[in-house]
Amino acid sequence: MIDAPRIIQLLMELRGQGITDTRVLSAIEMTPREQFVPEAFADRAYENIPLPIAQGQTISQPYIVAYMTQLLEVGPRAKVLEIGTGSGYQAAVLARLCRRVYTVDRYRSLVQEAQRRFQALDLHNITTRTGDGMKGWPEQAPFDRIIVTAAGREVPAALVEQLAEGGVLVAPLEEKPGEQVMVRLRRTPEGIARERLIPVRFVPLLPGVAEERQV
Ligand code: SAH
Repeated sequence: MIDAPRIIQLLMELRGQGITDTRVLSAIEMTPREQFVPEAFADRAYENIPLPIAQGQTISQPYIVAYMTQLLEVGPRAKVLEIGTGSGYQAAVLARLCRRVYTVDRYRSLVQEAQRRFQALDLHNITTRTGDGMKGWPEQAPFDRIIVTAAGREVPAALVEQLAEGGVLVAPLEEKPGEQVMVRLRRTPEGIARERLIPVRFVPLLPGVAEERQV
């Protein structure tokens, strides 16, 4: 069960922070974040803070998930690619708003755990894969929307190539060491339009499939 008073408080806080898209707010409301965090943090799941997950990664702050989801302008027919499955929380929120989510992580164990959560929540429109998301998912391209939830120096070229006409891509970029900014790219008939948005803090986007740390 979602903890009603706490989620309502979180939704009000998100509204106050500029999340005005009611579809985004209701997708957050329908997604039990406590099922995506380690048990030790379940009681903090509705605080507006990032939390640690396995493999030294993090589940983003609810505000950042809501903000990126709003920036993506996802419609019900959209085919969405996410790089950085992590806990699966962002993918679960997106799955409420679009036709299908393809999500990739470089840690097999994170992908397996996320997939288990999607099944438990009856989310059947999410397809997962373990791999290097910097290469995108060429077999399924093009994508109407692409979201990257780890910070690289630049948006990987393969992802820009796999973005459909009229498509939107949202990603954090580490422009200088320690300085990250959210960017939104849009494929227009004239080329790629780029917006620089707010400063952010994400774990790094790293190449290749990860060596699993012993547990
Ligand atoms: N969206 C996640 C949070 C992701 S944390 C959530 O909702 O919980 C960032 C994730 O990006 C980590 O799990 C990390 O393993 C992954 N990552 C980093 N570089 C990657 C790459 N090249 N390909 C795929 N995943 C990558």
